Amino acid sequence: MDCIFCKIVAGQIPSPRLYEDANTIVIRDVSPQSKHHFLVLPKKHVASLADLFANEAEGRGVMGDLFSAANAVAKQEGLLTAGFRSVINTGADGGQTVFHLHLHVLGGQKMKGTFA
Ligand code: 5GP
Ligand code: ZN
Repeated sequence: MDCIFCKIVAGQIPSPRLYEDANTIVIRDVSPQSKHHFLVLPKKHVASLADLFANEAEGRGVMGDLFSAANAVAKQEGLLTAGFRSVINTGADGGQTVFHLHLHVLGGQKMKGTFA
């Protein structure tokens, strides 16, 4: 499958991992939108949040994994006290550009605004 995040998960495209567990990796966004900008990826390919919840039980499990990893990396990078933002873009109107589910973690500065 021609998916850039699957290639990163497989190690075919080098990308340092800030965090890794059985089901999840965390990498730095190549085009950071804040001082700290991480991407939390499930190792197993699924295109989007909408696709993930085609299987309700799997959806609940993967979302637990993603937010657990997001919190772990926020703690590791010293963002837990000051806070951080977590975002999932879904589909065209959501602004999703890479169709391998990912959770953005942004922090290291005061975030402004909440929506577009
Ligand atoms: P989306 O718009 O789908 O929510 O977010 C995709 C994100 O992936 C963007 O913030 C973009 O900068 C990031 N991105 C795209 N290609 C790569 C890549 O090859 N490596 C990394 N680390 N990030 C990428
Ligand atoms: Zn993929």
